[in-house]
Amino acid sequence: MNFVRKSLTARYAVLLLSSCLWTGSAAWAAPQKEEGAREGFPATLVTELKSLQRAALESDYAYKQLRHLTNNIGPRISGSPQATFAAEYVAAELRRLGLEARLEKVTVPHWVRGVETAELVSYPGQAPQTTQKIVLTALGNSSATPPGGLIAEVVVVNNFEELAALGKERIAGKIVLFNEKFDRKMAAQGQSFVAYSTAVVYRTEAAKVAAPLGAIATLVRSVGGADFRLPHTGYSTPAGIPAGAVAAEDADLIAQLTSEGPVRMHLTLTPQKLPDATSYNVVADIKGSEHPEQIVIMSGHLDSWDLGTGAIDDGAGVAVAMAAAQLVQQLHLKPRRTLRVVAWMDEEQGGSGSKAYAEDHKSEIANHAGAIESDSGAGHPIGFSASVNPKALAFLAPVRAVLEDSGAGYMQHSEDPGVGADVAPLARAGVPSFGLLQDGHRYFNYHHTAADTFDKVDAHELAENAAAMAVLGYALAAMPELLPR
Ligand SMILES: [Zn+2]
Repeated sequence: MNFVRKSLTARYAVLLLSSCLWTGSAAWAAPQKEEGAREGFPATLVTELKSLQRAALESDYAYKQLRHLTNNIGPRISGSPQATFAAEYVAAELRRLGLEARLEKVTVPHWVRGVETAELVSYPGQAPQTTQKIVLTALGNSSATPPGGLIAEVVVVNNFEELAALGKERIAGKIVLFNEKFDRKMAAQGQSFVAYSTAVVYRTEAAKVAAPLGAIATLVRSVGGADFRLPHTGYSTPAGIPAGAVAAEDADLIAQLTSEGPVRMHLTLTPQKLPDATSYNVVADIKGSEHPEQIVIMSGHLDSWDLGTGAIDDGAGVAVAMAAAQLVQQLHLKPRRTLRVVAWMDEEQGGSGSKAYAEDHKSEIANHAGAIESDSGAGHPIGFSASVNPKALAFLAPVRAVLEDSGAGYMQHSEDPGVGADVAPLARAGVPSFGLLQDGHRYFNYHHTAADTFDKVDAHELAENAAAMAVLGYALAAMPELLPR
């Protein structure tokens, strides 16, 4: 996930409000009900949805696929050989399940990490001949310092307003540290995505805002809620200067020392921006039996950052989409419409995968009956954020009723198409789009860190996510009527 402020706030801020809004009493006139039928869903479909849910909760397929993507393949940063190899692996695995799988070309950025070290070389109270190590990481699109690094004074600001107040005179030639804090209390109250969207703007914009004032490098306080002294990487808007993120503990240290007197840092960041690379979206279909031209997408993004192995972001999303297709095949279900698994490339560094898909499939978009994405971790799923015609929610009452059994029966309407970074272009084009909502309490403890590893995923919670994806995906592909757009 690298979404910034607006969409995330929309996505989650409504979470608390709308649970009272949608009561399920559909204004929509239900036809005469057969035994077991629900609001326009024939009994057979309701039975199929329940069997999908049951099979998902008993399956470890998603968990095994995630283990392979993370432990066997590893970090999958955009443009890397691992990312392309992962695309080939996912396509081959979906072909093995009987899907028509293909690799669709995408031109992606190829930024590679280099040396990343920093130490304070002069500061108040310093013991002679000693330095203090700073834990940090380079942000995506960061430029490099000279190979031997640079030494400069550090200025700490808490926000853009303070930076502007200092102006060129006090910023030029300095390293600027933005000490915006991730609101842990807000996260603990279940609003971790809102807390993230408030702080992440510093990660993405710090260098771009400070460079014109003559800053020679920028650092931000890591956007995350844990106190494991871990730096969180992520996308930053290219600004021609080195851009990094320090661990929260190190931001506190530097802020305290600079409040006592001048502090100088020796900073070495040597990433490289290599030429764009060719990579792929994986696109794999279970052809529809009645309307093969109508398409329902189930998806996650395959690329990840390179500090960890991209388990919660977003190997889990891809594994869950793969599992949903595997379950449909395992139960020999025949959807009316085509069910399409998409493993998006390059969500983290600009979204070139989803943009390429929207462009290449322009002529088919009117026939996309739905698009689902999972990109908020692997925690217990609570339901979906839905960028749909409000009337469509009533159609999905049977889906909510089935998913209520595994605690994922919640669905909230979102005015904002940003229910998922990769389906947003489709949502903007009117495709009914859904983002899987998970319990995000722990998500930002590991998000974009070296600790985003397989062990952070609970097998049962992942299976619950596969159930949610499979039930909504199959419902959209099998329900008698299309959702209103
Ligand atoms: Zn992500």
